[in-house]
Amino acid sequence: MDVFSKEKRSQVMSSIRSTDTKPEMIVRKYLHANGFRYGLHNQKLPGHPDIVLRKYQTIVFINGCFWHGHKGCRHYTVPKSNTSYWTAKVRRNVERDAENITKLKSKGWRVITIWECELKSDIRENTLANLVRMLHQKAVEYDTTAPHTIMAAENAAIYGSDD
Ligand SMILES: [Zn+2]
Repeated sequence: MDVFSKEKRSQVMSSIRSTDTKPEMIVRKYLHANGFRYGLHNQKLPGHPDIVLRKYQTIVFINGCFWHGHKGCRHYTVPKSNTSYWTAKVRRNVERDAENITKLKSKGWRVITIWECELKSDIRENTLANLVRMLHQKAVEYDTTAPHTIMAAENAAIYGSDD
């Protein structure tokens, strides 16, 4: 059984969802400290991107592994009660994310998704360094659908492959 009632779970989940979440702040601070300037929560762009780096034609989403259904992630665990409700909800988010990314790409944006699990303290530095590296490599095509995209190699080295 879920440790929370349905109401409490909703409350817990929506508090996780709030705008200036800690993972996002980690990324913002790092970018800022490295001289990057960006816009925040752009309401005019599809998906209201967390971070918009116009100079680099790049958008960065910082996704919670639960809400955005991080495929293959050990941190994406569906609550054991109201399972179908949460599964459907997360599936809708995943579909919406994919649509938004398609729209953004068609407008010429490069889209980078950083997953919350990629910002855990032991791998955070690598993730952020890789992000900066990618920002400087303008032409790199980035596969946002793959799990642990930024950290794939590093994660595999640390934890073994998820496949
Ligand atoms: Zn994850």
